Amino acid sequence: MRELEKLLTNITEKNKEYCKEGKVASYIPALARQKFDMLGAVIVDLDNNIYSAGDVNEKFTLQSVSKIFTLMIAIMDNSVEEVFSKVGMEPTGDPFNSIVKLETMNPSKPLNPMINAGAIAISSMIKGKDNEERYNRVVDFIESVIGEPVTLNEAVYLSEKATGDRNRAAAYFMKDVGVIEEDVEEVLDLYFKHCSIEVDCIGLAKLGAILANQGICPTTGERVVPKEVTQLCKSFMITCGMYNSSGEFAIKVGIPAKSGVGGGIMAVVPNKYGIGVWGPALDAKGNSIAGIKVLEDLSKELDLSIF
Ligand code: GLU
Repeated sequence: MRELEKLLTNITEKNKEYCKEGKVASYIPALARQKFDMLGAVIVDLDNNIYSAGDVNEKFTLQSVSKIFTLMIAIMDNSVEEVFSKVGMEPTGDPFNSIVKLETMNPSKPLNPMINAGAIAISSMIKGKDNEERYNRVVDFIESVIGEPVTLNEAVYLSEKATGDRNRAAAYFMKDVGVIEEDVEEVLDLYFKHCSIEVDCIGLAKLGAILANQGICPTTGERVVPKEVTQLCKSFMITCGMYNSSGEFAIKVGIPAKSGVGGGIMAVVPNKYGIGVWGPALDAKGNSIAGIKVLEDLSKELDLSIF
């Protein structure tokens, strides 16, 4: 059993050098301050065995990985039909923060829930009496899976909020065309907050494991999300989870994954493993440069591709 941990350790050590070739996210000071040469990887199997290697106890912000959990909650709060009347199901091939296709799509809606515009629209569909309750529902969902409290990185949240004008532009445009019906600033506040929730690689792997386990949490044995919703999320992870290198990632690694500019990648081997990888040095598309290498090697060594 511990052979898996040995393999993971070897792969993580071997790929740490790639950190040097990437750059930490620099669009806000709170992320630009991160150390670049960190790399951690965790695999959680469906019996809740945990295999760890490298910097697995460091906390990092979920950023775009949070888009998977808000999508799950929005679908459970509404319905697949309602959610996708506002957001599309197609990959864009554009950068995650692009707004160029918002106006030219007919009907006017964001192409998918993984790009920022789509994820902001998804945040507007989370139910709650006020923003605090909506945010707490996202936190409760994550904590119920991880089994321990998570915190908000206040510095990241405040800088996202202070500098997020492109997200703001997308959100106001979506309000104008009726994709967003709620108060735009409240919706954005919720979006910036759920991007700024901190986890470690172990938590990330546990979150991936619910997708691997068709919606049942391996830690508690409880169903946290319907199977159909996990299938839908994994399809989005394959087609648009790794920004505009999702195609290349599907070819080289072949498993559903979602990355965030905090350096985290949550990957899923259906019916087998949840995987959490973190390395804050990013490639030009915004994916953890060493994290992708770890997943490539793991996939080759363990024959993980679903294709
Ligand atoms: N909070 C980031 C933004 O909205 C998320 C970016 C990401 O991880 O892709 O720009």
